[in-house]
Amino acid sequence: MEKSPKEVQTKRKNKIKIVHYIYRRGHASKVDIANDLGLSMPTVLQNIKELSDAGVVEEVGNYQSTGGRKAKALSIVANICYAVGVDITANHLGFVMIDAKGTILSNTRQRMRYEDTFSYYQEISERIQTFIDDTLEDPKEREKIAGIGVSIPGIIDKANHILLKSHALNVSNISLLKMSQFLPYKVVFDNDANCAAYTEISDPNKNVIYLSLNNTVGGAISYNGKLYEGDHLKSGEFGHIIIVPNGERCYCGKKGCVDCYCSALRLSSHTGGNLEKYFIELKNGNHDFEKIWNDYLYMLALTVSNLRMAFDCDIIIGGYVGGYLKDYLIDLSKLVMQMNKFDFDTSYLRCSKYHMEASAYGIAMWLIQKFYDTIG
Ligand SMILES: [Zn+2]
Repeated sequence: MEKSPKEVQTKRKNKIKIVHYIYRRGHASKVDIANDLGLSMPTVLQNIKELSDAGVVEEVGNYQSTGGRKAKALSIVANICYAVGVDITANHLGFVMIDAKGTILSNTRQRMRYEDTFSYYQEISERIQTFIDDTLEDPKEREKIAGIGVSIPGIIDKANHILLKSHALNVSNISLLKMSQFLPYKVVFDNDANCAAYTEISDPNKNVIYLSLNNTVGGAISYNGKLYEGDHLKSGEFGHIIIVPNGERCYCGKKGCVDCYCSALRLSSHTGGNLEKYFIELKNGNHDFEKIWNDYLYMLALTVSNLRMAFDCDIIIGGYVGGYLKDYLIDLSKLVMQMNKFDFDTSYLRCSKYHMEASAYGIAMWLIQKFYDTIG
């Protein structure tokens, strides 16, 4: 009997759900899929057969068993597609290529000062193409690239491909098509904090606040596994919440913003812009640096406490400083506990799992997941 359009849609949704589930877990058994997604075993078996026939999933071995038949482990086929992430900052370009399982195949960081000129956009396109050609030497494999995701520190109107405003790059109202027009791939753009947040929000059942501590402070709000962008694309601008009335002047024009006290520059400005050097000095017991760090941590605790009060969900700290915060998370937690009497612990607070090229990696992950949404 022919299936109704609703049945066809449900079947397709189940198939996509299964692919996302296997991708998130790395590998999964049919029993796991049926139990965790609430699907019947015949439905799982039928979908796995179709996905295997289409070359999307494969058996990669057996799970350990204490008796009876061993369960087969299913995984995504790594070369079903690829995605490229590009991170543009004021002085650098970061490139990452991942496969369909989210494994990084290649990454590099290059010095290149941003300027809004034709030659810059041409040069960046050439460098992206060279990076792709060096990573995937077989032209047939290059045809499987699902897209190129570009991370930019600024407010982006994705629908109209316009960079509305970037303090970090010191530009406004730039057409992003200037960059994508030279590339023979699908190109998407997103804000750098949003891109980094994609590394942390693959679980559709989780709400997450992502606080990005780079040379500017940004953030993202993930609600039910999707980013909340706000009515005017300005959500998650945690860097411009005022925490010190009439405090230091922020580049945005206000006074006392989080950015003034919690950007990575607050620390690295004491070591000529080298954040790693700052943390080495701190570890070596430099008293001046300890004082700076204590002040920094207090302001960060204030920010975290405010975010927790506003959103009541997990808070993940990423960005350059987030990469060094693991050893100081207990100190931060103590301060947050002193300020926030509404929680019994700070188990909601953690550092981002990804430090290097998080924005480029995140937007590439997003492209891979979008590719899975097209499987039917
Ligand atoms: Zn500000």
